[in-house]
Amino acid sequence: MALIVQKFGGTSVANTEKILGAARKAIREVKAGNQVVMVVSAMGKQTDALISLANEITDRPNTREMDMLLSTGEQVTIALMAIALESLGHKAVSFTGAQIGIHTDKTYRKARIRSISTDRMENALKEGRIVIAAGFQGVDDDLNITTLGRGGSDTTAVALAAALKADRCDIYTDVDGVYTTDPRIVPEARRLERISYDEMLELASMGAGVMHSRSIEFAKKYNVLVHVRSSFSDGVGTLIGPQPERESAPACGLALAKDETRLTVVGVKDQPGVAMRLFSKIADAKIAIDMIAQSSSAEGRTDVSFTLQSEDAVKAREVVDSFVKEEGDGALGYDFDNNVAKISLVGLGMTKQTGVAQKMFHAISEAGVNIHMIATSDIKISALVGRDDAVNALRAVHEAFALHCEPTPEELEVESASACETPETAPFASGVSPKLLNQLAGMEDVVVEGIDLDSDQARVTLYSLPDRRGLAAEVFDRVADGRVIVDMIVQSVGRDNQANITFTIPRNELEAVSAIANEVCEKYKSEGCRAEIDAKVSKLSLRGSGLRSHTGLAYRMFRSLSASNVNVSVISLSERSVGVLVDEAHGQAGLNSLKAEFSEESL
Ligand code: ASP
Ligand code: MG
Repeated sequence: MALIVQKFGGTSVANTEKILGAARKAIREVKAGNQVVMVVSAMGKQTDALISLANEITDRPNTREMDMLLSTGEQVTIALMAIALESLGHKAVSFTGAQIGIHTDKTYRKARIRSISTDRMENALKEGRIVIAAGFQGVDDDLNITTLGRGGSDTTAVALAAALKADRCDIYTDVDGVYTTDPRIVPEARRLERISYDEMLELASMGAGVMHSRSIEFAKKYNVLVHVRSSFSDGVGTLIGPQPERESAPACGLALAKDETRLTVVGVKDQPGVAMRLFSKIADAKIAIDMIAQSSSAEGRTDVSFTLQSEDAVKAREVVDSFVKEEGDGALGYDFDNNVAKISLVGLGMTKQTGVAQKMFHAISEAGVNIHMIATSDIKISALVGRDDAVNALRAVHEAFALHCEPTPEELEVESASACETPETAPFASGVSPKLLNQLAGMEDVVVEGIDLDSDQARVTLYSLPDRRGLAAEVFDRVADGRVIVDMIVQSVGRDNQANITFTIPRNELEAVSAIANEVCEKYKSEGCRAEIDAKVSKLSLRGSGLRSHTGLAYRMFRSLSASNVNVSVISLSERSVGVLVDEAHGQAGLNSLKAEFSEESL
């Protein structure tokens, strides 16, 4: 007898007819001899409706009361689902988050799960009942109701699957799987047969709507096989597991985050510790930032830019505002652009191929779109563009990487053989030892899988390039011609229509790349372009999952480095790695300080 967790999102339970349809899906599994735990969302757009009600009163509702309010949406669905199951002749029981024992921290509206007690669910299952759990909610130590953040029912479902050691977690939704990009925007988008945890986590975190990114952290950590499928048809869906669909492709998908805001703090003193104080305040406010870039330092000051979701913009501006006041430094200020969008190309394959970034920038430029900012990590390249240009850029990149092309049966075959070798959803199989999990304060705590020092890097920075369409494509076209693997790429927002581009390369390619950099500078000399080449840099990185969205973690990394007097120049952030560039001379000291800082959560 298998145990299956089935999750039904808002559209799948939007009315009583659909609730009955979902109930029949659960019954089908029971008839096949399985035990079922259902996790349900609020009906249709009920959560939005509840938020609007509160906003009719104030635009700053008390967050505790918001969670009290929002949790009612799911409570309605669980009761109706139980009534539906009973009416169809099946024993069922509904539980709120508190009743099941989903314990969370106290961060209203973005609470993280600490632990789940499974006794009550297990007893109900033993009695032959279908268990129906309210998604998206939990309870803190003082019995206050908390919610897990928009879309959080996915996280409830995967977390329950992990805690119950379920055989499978089926996510029923209004699309029939995970697509290469949003098919409503790019009709050629294709359903993926399979996607790896790391890729899915990155796509979800970069704005692909299909799953809550935190649910994928759970899935990876506890090795839960997740099956995304349609509530309304019987297709095969997409399997999220340890293996990518095909190793040979440079990219598997493309995410669009339409509502982004760029914040730039100008005139930041270029001294260890200043930027760190800023990031620590942002982390304290639990705002996840992305695409961090520093512009060149002039008279000991730099501009630090980063992007975040527009929904966090008001809070982030308050934080920056208080930072500027507290530093009491007349030269500090900030500026923002809330009319931007972020396009992120994701794929495990890009770690092994050259020319991937160049191809992406080229496609964007051919579509007539200027790139404002660039940030990369090992399996992701993000470009910030004007919001009105985003769809064109997205289509162009999808086309350039032929993401619509189906994998051949051979490509799928090879890898499904190895996919089958993964342990049968054994709990903790992803390498997280039960001992370590016990040490951590909660199920959602971050795990650091490794800390690395790479001392074979060199840095190239091109300052004061004209900020116009096609510039990044031109630079990386030339680099790609030399078949050089470029690692970290950052394009920062410059002043006066100028941009700086920094990238790292393997040190043995330095001679060839210096020549290219000098050529580019020569061409744009009249606009003030100059190149800076640093042959002695090291890259320090943390590996794990959920590293970007656990907002305090990158901050701890910077703090620990700054405490050891290690200055950070380039930062790359993703869910599975955080990398920073430091002076080669400080590489070892930096490594030691990171090992000490993260000894508790390291494997
Ligand atoms: N009802 C919540 C929301 O709309 C949670 C969910 O659907 O996953 O965000
Ligand atoms: Mg959802």
